[in-house]
Amino acid sequence: MNTRSLPALRRVFLATLLPLGAATAQSAQDYPSILSYKTVTVARGVYGFITPEERTGLQAGNSIAVEGDSAVLVFDTGAMPTVTRRQIAELRTLTGKPVRYVVTSHWHPDHHLGNHEYQQAFPGVRFIGTKATQQGILDRGAHFIKEVQGFAATDSLMRLRLSTGKMRDGRPLPATTRTIFELNTRDFAEFMPEVSRAIPLTSNQVLDDSLRIDLGGRVVMIYTRGWGNTSGDAFAYVPDVGVLLTGDLLTFPCPFPSTAYFNDWIPLLDHLKTFRPRAIVPGHGEVQHDLAFLEQTRTLLQFTRDQAADAVKRGRTLEQFTAEVSFARFLPLFAGSDVVRTDAFNSFYISAAVPRAFLEATLATRGERPPPYPPS
Ligand SMILES: [Zn+2]
Repeated sequence: MNTRSLPALRRVFLATLLPLGAATAQSAQDYPSILSYKTVTVARGVYGFITPEERTGLQAGNSIAVEGDSAVLVFDTGAMPTVTRRQIAELRTLTGKPVRYVVTSHWHPDHHLGNHEYQQAFPGVRFIGTKATQQGILDRGAHFIKEVQGFAATDSLMRLRLSTGKMRDGRPLPATTRTIFELNTRDFAEFMPEVSRAIPLTSNQVLDDSLRIDLGGRVVMIYTRGWGNTSGDAFAYVPDVGVLLTGDLLTFPCPFPSTAYFNDWIPLLDHLKTFRPRAIVPGHGEVQHDLAFLEQTRTLLQFTRDQAADAVKRGRTLEQFTAEVSFARFLPLFAGSDVVRTDAFNSFYISAAVPRAFLEATLATRGERPPPYPPS
């Protein structure tokens, strides 16, 4: 979840027009509340608070705590204050050691709106992030909260469709659309009050290149290589257990490229492979124990970038490129026949990736890069 929330939610209506093949509609009740998470021991002293799979854009990213002999480092803090407070309470039962460091992977609000809760719970905690992350939180934190509140109109419309059981043109609401609308309205009802209470808090220590953080008996390495999924992503590695924390450089069930730099992101994924991690905690979704999903993601990004570059070279417009490019071969890989994953792939990946990659390819011909985010 990030700035794509509103465009993604608009696209929910489009998704109902897309062929869903043999996909079957599950009930919204089959999906866990966005206020829930599960705690996973990724390795000795590495705890992942894994949030429900992304489906509406109104959700929080994963948060990970790394425990040393004398201190704890937390990588990302979620988006909903009461959930973050529950995670902090759980952390106190898992370890008696204080949280001294909070790393923010990037500026998307689903990864840092819990920072304030950590500051309250552990005064003096250091907040670490790249300069781009610092600036992004300052520029976009409050804006995001307003953006989420602005979804109320769309929410009302979805509720109307659900209550009448009809689309705007009078056709019966398809079962797949019903599931997606039910999930959106339910997630919004849970997300909006939480986000409205959140207080954006930016980092106070800049990550330029790398940082070696000693937690007592354990080192955590924090890195940035600049542009990637955003204009400045951080990732972390815990060498003694081979655990890699990627932020949104890797996300399950699909990548979230609305503010990405494909030309930088692809080599960055290659760089992540060189760590030969035993476990990868992505920014969203389940812990990965091999490189298969990372490779699948890389292939998709490369395809997108190459198609966009080729379209620009051939003088196509964005509209032409949008109509011509087909992700059909990737849909079964990222969504299978799952309705909600199909909608996520269409809404979060295709709809965001096509204009972003096209803009990047267009600007690259002038030696420029896209801006970090659209103007407020
Ligand atoms: Zn995210």
